[in-house]
Amino acid sequence: MITEITKAQLLTWRLGVLRNEGKATSAQISMAKRNNVEMALNIAREARQVLGAMGITGDYSIMRHMMNLESVITYEGTHDIHLLITGLDITGIAAFK
Ligand SMILES: Cc1cc2nc3c(=O)[nH]c(=O)nc-3n(C[C@H](O)[C@H](O)[C@H](O)COP(=O)(O)OP(=O)(O)OC[C@H]3O[C@@H](n4cnc5c(N)ncnc54)[C@H](O)[C@@H]3O)c2cc1C
Repeated sequence: MITEITKAQLLTWRLGVLRNEGKATSAQISMAKRNNVEMALNIAREARQVLGAMGITGDYSIMRHMMNLESVITYEGTHDIHLLITGLDITGIAAFK
């Protein structure tokens, strides 16, 4: 968990530096959103599993957090669409046309 969170933080930090310099591209933003939202969702699922059956109860907030992330993965742009944007950026080929 900590390694994936740290990698995602580094990605965000780098994007922030580029953005401050006025150099961040929308494709780079897509890549960061895609990676970090998926990472957060996977970690929330893992945290839910750590709690076993108790993880699905209202006694812990992890399920609520997971469900929030399920909406984020849609409203921040879906995984597939961000991947198409990344693919276009590195190959110049628009696979969604
Ligand atoms: C809580 C919430 C808040 C939102 N807030 C905003 C907001 O503030 N501003 C805003 O502009 N929008 C907002 N949205 C809309 C959101 O951005 C869209 O729901 C999202 O982009 C997905 O579009 P769609 O619902 O039309 O699904 P569709 O485009 O119909 O996609 C359905 C599924 O098909 C996949 N798909 C679609 N086309 C392709 C393709 N060519 N190749 C492969 N897979 C494909 C998608 O990845 C997705 O999994 C919000 C949505 C939610 C749920």
